[in-house]
Amino acid sequence: MLANRDAKTRLYNTAYMMDQIETEISQAADGGAPFSLLMFDIDYFKKYNDKYGHIQGDALLSRLAELLARLTGNRDTLGRFGGEEFLLLMRGAGPDEAREAAFRLQRAVSTHGFPGEDSQPGGRITVSVGIVTYKSGMTAEQLIHHADNAMYAAKEAGRNQVCISDGHSFTKDGDKIIRIADIAFANQSIGQFLTELENASRRQIPSAHVATLMSFLKVLETHESDTAQHSLLVNKIAISIGQNMGLSDQELLQLNWGTLLHDIGKLAIADSLLLKPGKLTPEEYEAVKLHPTFGYDLLKNNNHLDAANKIILYHHERWDGEGYPYGLKGTQIPFLARICAVADAAAAMAEDRPYRKALSPAAIVAEIRRNAQTQFDPGIVAVFGILASCVLPAVADARRMREIKTVPGA
Ligand code: GH3
Ligand code: MG
Ligand code: MG
Repeated sequence: MLANRDAKTRLYNTAYMMDQIETEISQAADGGAPFSLLMFDIDYFKKYNDKYGHIQGDALLSRLAELLARLTGNRDTLGRFGGEEFLLLMRGAGPDEAREAAFRLQRAVSTHGFPGEDSQPGGRITVSVGIVTYKSGMTAEQLIHHADNAMYAAKEAGRNQVCISDGHSFTKDGDKIIRIADIAFANQSIGQFLTELENASRRQIPSAHVATLMSFLKVLETHESDTAQHSLLVNKIAISIGQNMGLSDQELLQLNWGTLLHDIGKLAIADSLLLKPGKLTPEEYEAVKLHPTFGYDLLKNNNHLDAANKIILYHHERWDGEGYPYGLKGTQIPFLARICAVADAAAAMAEDRPYRKALSPAAIVAEIRRNAQTQFDPGIVAVFGILASCVLPAVADARRMREIKTVPGA
């Protein structure tokens, strides 16, 4: 019986949970009852570990496991699913019942009073929860994937939240990349993002092209860390816009990599120009303006990146034709590059620059709107305007986190 259990928490282990899910799937296929999966992830658990050490962290995991176990029904199966994640299989439960249970458990956790929790953000231990309800034809891996995605969405929504996956279908390749976009969303710093991406790649071997792109990002992070951090913000904003404009998985995949790598060409520009505190001379500005072409040249032989490469090449084009390198106008500019242009500007305004402080979300929206029709595609500006109130706070958080990390002498 111990073989089924996780040594630390005594809950069921991952292998056992997967078995149980497979069994439920085969029963549901025979006309059995519906079932739901709930993925729990502790919010800011790393902070707790960092503050109190791993042993105390382990003790918290055990306490939390005990609490969840006490509150789950006997039709349900609770397991530990990786480090600080728990999975609850609710037999016979549709979305409503699952949602109610998630709220109940989440409230129980946040009001329980765990030792040392006052030092956590918000002064308590909380969990983010993702829910998926089985739909005919789903595999166990897909169910986990959906529950995971919903859990990341709950993180993105501010943590201590419950999100429900709509369980929409996705292509195999899209699936991997969208998940990378999710990781980008969930992580505030480019360093964290890369670490998570590497962890994810250990669980699921990345395709050769994903591995290559990760290498490019790492080079960018090493040599131009501010640019890499900025690119992560651009990615968050662009993916939100893209999702809301109904892009396909394939398009989102291209948008994902295109935004993360849009400034990769800056690797070929001298630091003396990129970091120059004062105004650039006209010649210097011309040199900086070569970065889209350099970046495009670096990646143009990767055929699977066709649309992403165009983002790199055209992200400084303007709707009115006054941009560079080609002065394309309006819909001559590829759509994904137009999204990147809005996201790039919004992210830049959300960051402190040597010559000005970061703008507030309201000021960013106003400034982007002011430049609709001239610099930006007005249709994309309209969508950005609607989304800004939820995306920009996350971007501001990322900026704050980075400031904390870069306090001089710390
Ligand atoms: P988020 O709100 O985004 O989930 O933030 P987080 O800090 O909880 O998440 P992150 O993924 O950054 O870190 C997870 C942490 O969980 C890092 C790791 O040290 C900790 N962890 C994972 N497994 C164990 C374990 O078995 N024992 C202890 N003590 N810590 C663990
Ligand atoms: Mg986790
Ligand atoms: Mg966590």
